[in-house]
Amino acid sequence: MSFVKLAVQVYCVSYYHVLNLLLVALILTAPSAVRPGPVAHASESVGLRSVPAGSVPVGSVPVVGRVFFADPADLDRLAARLDVWHVVHDAGYLVALLHPDERAALLQAGYRVEIDEARTARLNQPEPPLVQQAGGIPSYPCYRTVEETYADLAQLAAGHPDLATWTDIGDSWEKVSGDLPGYALYALVLTNRARPGPKPKFVLMGAIHARELTTAELAARFAEYLVASYGIDPDVTWLLDDFEVHILPMANPDGRKRAEAGEYWRKNTDDDDGCTIPSYYGTDLNRNSSFHWGGASTNPCSQTYQGPSAVSEPETQAIQDYLAAVFPDQRGPGDEDPTPDDAMGLFISLHSFGELVLFPYGFRSAPSSNDAQLETLGRKFGFFNGYEVCRSGEPGCIYTTTGTTDDWAYGELGVAAYTFELGWDFFEDCSFFEDTIVPANFPALLYAIKAARRPYQTPAGPEALDVVATPSFVFAGAPVTVTAAIDDTRYDSHGWGDEPVQTIADARYTVDAPSWITGTVSHPTSPTDGAFDAPVETVQAAVDTTGWAPGRHILYVEGQDAEGHRGVPAAVFLWILDSAIQGTAREGDSGLPVKGVTVHLSGNGLEQEQITGPDGHYAFAVFTGTYTLAPSAPGYFSTVLTPVVALSGITTTQDIVLWPGYRHYLPLVVKAKSVGV
Ligand SMILES: [Zn+2]
Repeated sequence: MSFVKLAVQVYCVSYYHVLNLLLVALILTAPSAVRPGPVAHASESVGLRSVPAGSVPVGSVPVVGRVFFADPADLDRLAARLDVWHVVHDAGYLVALLHPDERAALLQAGYRVEIDEARTARLNQPEPPLVQQAGGIPSYPCYRTVEETYADLAQLAAGHPDLATWTDIGDSWEKVSGDLPGYALYALVLTNRARPGPKPKFVLMGAIHARELTTAELAARFAEYLVASYGIDPDVTWLLDDFEVHILPMANPDGRKRAEAGEYWRKNTDDDDGCTIPSYYGTDLNRNSSFHWGGASTNPCSQTYQGPSAVSEPETQAIQDYLAAVFPDQRGPGDEDPTPDDAMGLFISLHSFGELVLFPYGFRSAPSSNDAQLETLGRKFGFFNGYEVCRSGEPGCIYTTTGTTDDWAYGELGVAAYTFELGWDFFEDCSFFEDTIVPANFPALLYAIKAARRPYQTPAGPEALDVVATPSFVFAGAPVTVTAAIDDTRYDSHGWGDEPVQTIADARYTVDAPSWITGTVSHPTSPTDGAFDAPVETVQAAVDTTGWAPGRHILYVEGQDAEGHRGVPAAVFLWILDSAIQGTAREGDSGLPVKGVTVHLSGNGLEQEQITGPDGHYAFAVFTGTYTLAPSAPGYFSTVLTPVVALSGITTTQDIVLWPGYRHYLPLVVKAKSVGV
């Protein structure tokens, strides 16, 4: 990592004059908040050409600096020109990467600039090498490279063709330009393909900004979590049955490759737009979308260079084409046209950093026609991940931005669109990623799938939580009680206002399909305390299982508040049994029953375990199908019995023979133990 950072610095020195001309021109043309005055080289930059090896003077290397701005308009102007990493509105400064000339020009223009010593140290000092790092980005083993991510997700799809497809959706700039291999952009689509659609769709995109390392890894891990939890977690199971989840893990693979080598690379690597400084090449793909394109930097070396025209970059084209194919256009062409309340579809673009949930519009400070609805869903996300929730363009939130993917998805298609700013760094520590970012954001992303059907309606309604079926394994006709919590309080904007909360008015359950699937019958529940009169209620219902088919069923519970808002459901499994497997565990030589054998049964989504008593007997109620029995006991060899076939209405007998392990191989040890006792 250190070598590349040094290379960046060398470029900065080599192109010092070019850069200075560019930046001086930039500052000179800045609007009025930048104080006019003669622009000369600040004293700290003058010594650059006589830097003795080993003693780099202050001011000759890039720094991470705090730049204090005058007002929101001043911030917007600075953000359009500088590589802004983060804004601290309360204190009135932005954090940006400043090359010596930029820093000098800001000082010359009268800005107060302070050095962020900690971030500057990380920027300019070598990372300690990790010994024995098997994979991932150097010094950051938790973040897979482009190639590793692609290989793992392609493998995930190949191993689960019923649930996942891995599709080429376009090319990177380097691939299109022809001189370099470049990359394809891919989408991983997750859904139970045996269940017919059309289904509501959620799209999650990572790494459109190359250096934001946590974003691609979070997207990939979320995909892997969904596939691994299918058939095990009831909510994940029905979400993949009834929704489509589209994951674009690497929206900017060319740029990402530069970041993987240690550069603070943000843009793609497009080199033919007039920038002559290799380390500054590229178009900012999150300023290049076609909705209100044209307000970001026109300097091709700038970190927020918008490109020569709207959608000039192949990556932007691929992303827009893909989103337009996934989502119908549900919104009129005007900026003030509202998206209909019952519109479908949700899009999240993952970025870092700053712990923010942002929603459109970003191109202006005034709200969109769906502002309150976007804010409500944002406050749901904020409840889960603990991030501040605000409209991008709203003064005090971040700063105005044009040509962003989320403004495009909302503005062009009417999709509920968000940016998550993850964590507190680009090269985020692996421990913070693993321990904080992943656990904070998985619940938000799971909720996002649920909300994708009616993102402008269901977030105002209560969530169903803690759905339990008692008992959860029964023969058809046996009574079952389903219980759940219905909760209308789970919102948090973290400083941007409170969401109205209502009392719970109703809750219902459905069987094997959510309520919106045609032909699904809804059943009532009742509050366990006798009245619906609080924003959190526990509900229950007696479930009549008469005539239910053997196998696994799903119960969905869904609540409604006093203003008529229906929330998203949560689910639980309920197994209907029609068969049994029983038998006796005996010792191989003596034929005597063995007590204390742990018999594990698995198959058809069922996992059960029993320990034999003095008679060596075990018995499992199951449903028709094929199972595996894995008995084990101390002092005996473990064994696996498969397949054990259970037929409808019949009890299958499967005895277990266990062979002692100690007697043949460890007689002296057994004897010594006996003597010792
Ligand atoms: Zn970003």
